Amino acid sequence: MCIFCKIVAGEIPSRKKYEDDEIVIFEDIEPKAKIHLLCVPKEHFAYLSEAGGKEALLGRTLVKIAALQKELGLEDGYRLVVNQGENAGQTVKHLHIHILGGEILPWE
Ligand code: AMP
Ligand code: ZN
Repeated sequence: MCIFCKIVAGEIPSRKKYEDDEIVIFEDIEPKAKIHLLCVPKEHFAYLSEAGGKEALLGRTLVKIAALQKELGLEDGYRLVVNQGENAGQTVKHLHIHILGGEILPWE
């Protein structure tokens, strides 16, 4: 089982901020911004490039993140990032969306 599947299953502890039957949102262990959360679909697939057929799930996930903006402390804005593959430095091979915020985020 991959590390995020273990977090989903509760076998590895995490600081969960939100959970429903499809996704879990928890704090990144090495935050790259004041607020750095990871949104993980409970269903395991390794890459965004393997998300064919998951259009509805991914759409619901994005809309859910948007709906949780205030609850997650992101009222002043946030950034979503998906690292896909080697060049992007993807380390965990279970699709996850980084949610960054809590401060002004550098772009350049
Ligand atoms: P990526 O480079 O896009 O694959 O991102 C993986 C992210 O998972 C990194 O930002 C790590 O800090 C984070 N991470 C790895 N293990 C854990 C963990 N056990 N709990 C929370 N975040 C983790
Ligand atoms: Zn997994």
